[in-house]
Parts: sequence; structure tokens; C-alpha cells
Amino acid sequence: MRTRPELLSPAGSLDKLKIAVLYGADAVYCGGQKFGLRMASDNFTNEELKEGVVFAHSHGSKVYVVLNGFLHDEDLETLPEFLKLLEEIKVDAVIVSDLGTIETVKSNCKVPIHLSTQASCLNVESAKLWKSKGVERVVLGREVTLTDAKEIKEKAEIEVEVFIHGSMCMAYSGNCTISNYTQGRDSNRGGCAHSCRFEYSIDYAEGENSKSTFMSSKDLEGVALLPEFVAAGVDSIKVEGRMKGPHYAGTITKIYADALRELEVNEKLSPESLAYYDSELLKVTHRDYSSGSLSHAAGEESIYSEREHDDKEYEVSGVVADVVANEFILLEVRHAFFVGDELELMPFVGKSQKFRAKTVLNFINETREKTKPGELVKLPWVPGAEKLNLVRRRLV
Ligand code: SF4
Repeated sequence: MRTRPELLSPAGSLDKLKIAVLYGADAVYCGGQKFGLRMASDNFTNEELKEGVVFAHSHGSKVYVVLNGFLHDEDLETLPEFLKLLEEIKVDAVIVSDLGTIETVKSNCKVPIHLSTQASCLNVESAKLWKSKGVERVVLGREVTLTDAKEIKEKAEIEVEVFIHGSMCMAYSGNCTISNYTQGRDSNRGGCAHSCRFEYSIDYAEGENSKSTFMSSKDLEGVALLPEFVAAGVDSIKVEGRMKGPHYAGTITKIYADALRELEVNEKLSPESLAYYDSELLKVTHRDYSSGSLSHAAGEESIYSEREHDDKEYEVSGVVADVVANEFILLEVRHAFFVGDELELMPFVGKSQKFRAKTVLNFINETREKTKPGELVKLPWVPGAEKLNLVRRRLV
């Protein structure tokens, strides 16, 4: 029987955790207020973590908490208290990059330990060593190919997690100090300012001094390689992007979940399905895509020619707050739209459905010509609509 890898999605906030879980994530990863690498993300309060774990578990999904900053002694002082909380609320694993943190985890709780990609585990001997230290799963460095991943899993007899989608890091997964020097922010304690995406000039002794984004990488996209992930026995496929919005969390999770479901019944993904998955993955804000190092070591073709991709094709108009079948859907508006606009409902499973906001009513059934973020409005009922479905609008 073919084994299906776990689909692991980013949860930058409680809202995004729920969206990822409902759109098919088998597990999500998130961070508390300290100890992680995304200090600009919303991050979870202790109460939110508790609620997130209860929600995920009630839907059969797991929650992993990142503790993957390179921690200094002063950071470790308050870690034991946080670990006790994580154990109490039944977090499924912690993601750690530092040996001192691993020792602190082991002496304060029994929560399983996953090794962060920050530790750049790239070979069998390294995986064996981490295993001997109590690590149950290694999140492999983004520099390994799927062939390497298979070998590491088999020879080190350890679970392997491999990135399949999202932004890349030009350095060996975060082992970089550009932001420290250029922005005064410590990359390895959560302060990466994506400085590698800025334009830089190379000062040749003679000649050219033009600026370019030669350190900015394309985004990773691996849906076409999914059958190879399965064949390699990868335990978990990971989507990057805790800082990205709900549309990203919902769409990317849904597409990889759909593709995994297809692979459970077929040997491969059909050309029609692949074309559909690719077209959906293009709808979220992204840089040009590349397959990174999944098939062979990434080279010049993985360099992106710009700093960011600013053209947003879709935005989330709102989240379904309630549904009264055959009558209306109640939408919590996230971005303003007008009566008459064409919208798309994204069901948890299956293709999006277009519909027109022919009528938009407020709570006391007054017509709204234009909605505003935060308000609840009634829209025409769409068959199949469910609470917490995303409704999006095409912008270009
Ligand atoms: S600045 Fe770029 S290379 Fe450095 S850690 Fe951040 S993403 Fe990675």
C-alpha cells in the first residue's frame, strides 16, 4: 500500500491555523511569542495556542510549535515554563535547531522533538547523530534532493520532512547575517528582513557597477514532483509561509491536499489535474516558481530577477461566518467589494465556484453598495458553502 505523506502547513495566526486545517492540512506549525524565527508574524499567545491545539485535534490534525531560533542563555531561562505549557496543552512536537534547546526540551517535558531546517541536516551521518540526541524527525535542509532524502530516511531510520512549496532562503536555511549587518536585525533570532532580496551592486575593480537582485531566489513549487515525494517515502511535505495571508494558507493547503488525495487513488497526477493545480498555485502572490534542489542542486535558474512580485491577482473578500441553506451566506468582510462584483467561493474540497454578489445586505437587511472590512454582510446562497470557506475576488 502506498503511504501518504503528511501535509504540513504554516499557521502564522489562529485564523490561518483554522483555515489551513479546514482546507486539508494534516498538521500545522506555528510560533509562540518567543523562541521562533518569525518575530514579524502575528505569533500565538498562550491562550491562542491552546485554542489552536484543541481546534486542530478536533479535526484530526497535529500542531507543531517552533522553537528554532538560535537561542542565547538569556532566551533559555524562560523556556522551561513555556515547555511545560506546551506539554500541558498537548502540542504534538516542537521544532528545534539548537543542541542546547534540545537538552532543555528533554529535561523539561516529553514533547517529541523535530529538528528544524535551520540545523541544515543534509546527510545520513548527521541525521544519525541528531537521532542519538533524541530527535524523532529531521526537517531536511532545502539543499537536499529527493534522492538524498530517501537515503537519509532509510539509512538513518528517521522521519524526514521536506519543503515542497514557498519562499526560499539564499543562505543555508537562515544561517545568514545579512540582516544583522544591514538592518540591525538578528536573522537567527527571528529578525530576518529578507535583505537578500534587495538590490546590490558588485564593485568590479574595472567596469560594471550595476545593481541587481542576484541573491533573490525564486519560490519553490513541487506539485509535479509529488509522486516522487511519495516514492522517496518522505514522511511530511512542508509548505513555507507563516507570514503570508489567509488566501495563501487556504489555497496552497487545498491544492496540495487535493493532489495527495488524487495520488491515493492513482499512481500519478493526470495532466489535466496538474494544469489545474499549477493554475491555482499561480493565483496566490508568488515570485516565479522553481523546483529548487528537489531534483538536482539549484543553480542560476533559481535566481529571481526582481525583489518581490507585487501584482496581486486575487484577494480574500471575506470568510463565511455562517450559512443559511437556500437563503444566504453570512460573510465577514476582509477586503471591500461592491454589489454586483464577481466573487469565488473556495470549498474545502473541489473546485472554486464563481458567483455574483447580486445582492449585498447588512444585518438589518439594508442594501450595501460597498462593503467595508470587518462588517458582516449577507450574500446570495452558494450551494456547498460551509462555515469558514474563503470567498475571493479577482483583481486583475
Ligand atoms: S536575508 Fe535572505 S538569505 Fe538571509 S536569512 Fe533572510 S531569507 Fe535567508
